[in-house]
Amino acid sequence: EIFTPKLLDINYTEGSVDPKWKRMDFPWTKKLEANNKKVFGNHSFRPSQREVINATMSGCDVFVLMPTGGGKSLTYQLPALICPGVTLVVSPLVSLIQDQIMHLKQWTEQQEIFRELMSSVCTYKLLYVTPEKVAKSDVLLRHLDSLYSRELLARIVIDEAHCVSQWGHDFRPDYQGLGILKQKFPNTPVLALTATATASVKEDVVQALGLENCVIFKQSFNRPNLSYSIMPKTKKCLDDMDKFIKENHFDECGIVYCLSRMDCEKVAEKLQEYGHKAAFYHGSMDPPQRAYVQNQWSKDEINIICATVAFGMGINKPDVRFVIHHSLPKSIEGYHQECGRAGRDGLRSSCVLYYSYGDYIRVKHMLTQGVIEQTPLAYGSRRGAFTNNDRVLETNIENLLRMVSYCENDADCRRLLQLIHFGENFSPENCNKTCDNCLKMLHWIEKDVTDIAKQLIELVKSTGQKHSSAHILEVFRGSLNQNIKKYKHETLSLHGAGKHLAKGDASRIMRHLVVEDILVEDVKKSDLYGSVSSILKNLSAKLYASLRMLRTILVKEAGEGVMAYHIFGNATLQQISKRIPRNKEELLEINGIGKAKINKYG
Ligand code: ADP
Ligand code: MG
Ligand code: ZN
Repeated sequence: EIFTPKLLDINYTEGSVDPKWKRMDFPWTKKLEANNKKVFGNHSFRPSQREVINATMSGCDVFVLMPTGGGKSLTYQLPALICPGVTLVVSPLVSLIQDQIMHLKQWTEQQEIFRELMSSVCTYKLLYVTPEKVAKSDVLLRHLDSLYSRELLARIVIDEAHCVSQWGHDFRPDYQGLGILKQKFPNTPVLALTATATASVKEDVVQALGLENCVIFKQSFNRPNLSYSIMPKTKKCLDDMDKFIKENHFDECGIVYCLSRMDCEKVAEKLQEYGHKAAFYHGSMDPPQRAYVQNQWSKDEINIICATVAFGMGINKPDVRFVIHHSLPKSIEGYHQECGRAGRDGLRSSCVLYYSYGDYIRVKHMLTQGVIEQTPLAYGSRRGAFTNNDRVLETNIENLLRMVSYCENDADCRRLLQLIHFGENFSPENCNKTCDNCLKMLHWIEKDVTDIAKQLIELVKSTGQKHSSAHILEVFRGSLNQNIKKYKHETLSLHGAGKHLAKGDASRIMRHLVVEDILVEDVKKSDLYGSVSSILKNLSAKLYASLRMLRTILVKEAGEGVMAYHIFGNATLQQISKRIPRNKEELLEINGIGKAKINKYG
């Protein structure tokens, strides 16, 4: 059967943004500039901010996809300030709302002007509400009605808009009721903001909110100034860490993410012994203690914070030079977000993860026991109350397994691996050797993996297209796990067909099939709580035919004899074969690495 995918990712790269939104001659441009500086203390706009503001102030419905920390709040707070009327902001968590308001209040105190502007037009400029409030409070709706009829409902902002979508990782049923806002107030522009980038989420949000002729802004999730590497985690991990910091970021600011509260304290203590100005931060400290550490950190009296993921939400220190993961993050999304706290000022910063398979077992155990500290509102994690739910647990473990496969991949560009996850294309040349895998000297050898790819697809088909990629891979590699055995009858002779493959290779081929749209990773909603899980589906029989041309390039790390595969489809065969070195000299040339180094490795 051939079916076309329902939701094709529309082309919303930076380049496709209508240039008119960049213009500097809107009636409000001067006011915008002035208030951005005076009230918010910003020297300039960040990428997309000006464009988003111009579009929403022109009265369009706007959908914004921007990574966490990209500066979404400004795109409604600044218009709220300079437009007459009230801006309604729907935000999912009361704590998040308090955080925002605290920020604004601080500004008020620091900047007299802000209060002046607030009161000169209207007492309230921004009204923050939870989605529950919109759904349940008639009083609120009546007030909004009244504002609307007096043309004083300036804008409706839906923050964390992915919560509307069942396809997102953080579905909240109350968000689905927000469609009522557009119905009741059709002339008020809606601004939907999120950091969750998949096309299906976008479609869902636009639909559910009833946005019309919506202008879409999407920003790349790539952070060019961050470098990424995975290091093996050994017993000497803390020695390694100390050395890394001293050699690369001596006396600079950084965060070390740890799994447990105990780890935070132990790591901090050890780093202090090594002479670093380190402290710990976690959920069981009381608020004054936490505030004290945060404050010390902002003032640079502490350089390094050893923290659980609870640390970072409200933190906007621009000069964090490194983020170290002392243990395995729970998902790629979480990892991306945690790394994202480094280098907000745009200067070069490092992200290092110490990986051991043992940590996978440990994190999995903690997830199962529900004793792990969750990021409030982070991707890939959910509210604590949900952790007892089986489906949620399964999804969490799937996310974790992806993180494992990311760590075990010693061939592909780290940026590519992360960005694929956000539905973004990335060509590894643009990494400029700022990740450990791109830095490696690799020797490419061609190998045909068409049969393996076909077997994987057969497996997905024969098991009824209802399992996750992790499950399919387990079967393929011949796992004897209970859960896998249960389905053994479905898998016929393919159980264990990939036994001969090196660890990680089957998963690389699988991922390639997903990237090439031959398999699709679908999310399915599976229960009352709206938990979602990804399943593999065979997308198109037509594409399956093109598989005949699928090839693999074997990669050999110079000197060390470590093998890995680089996989590509037919389209890029020519491009890549150009890069296959025929001899050692060519290899040197391609990698731009001096002879001395090669000699050292033999
Ligand atoms: P998001 O909601 O996209 O995660 P925020 O709106 O919370 O991000 O902004 C993240 C940080 O960036 C905040 O500390 C904010 O003050 C800062 N910021 C936003 N816009 C600018 C700008 N134009 N210049 C400097 N800092 C900015
Ligand atoms: Mg935000
Ligand atoms: Zn790279």
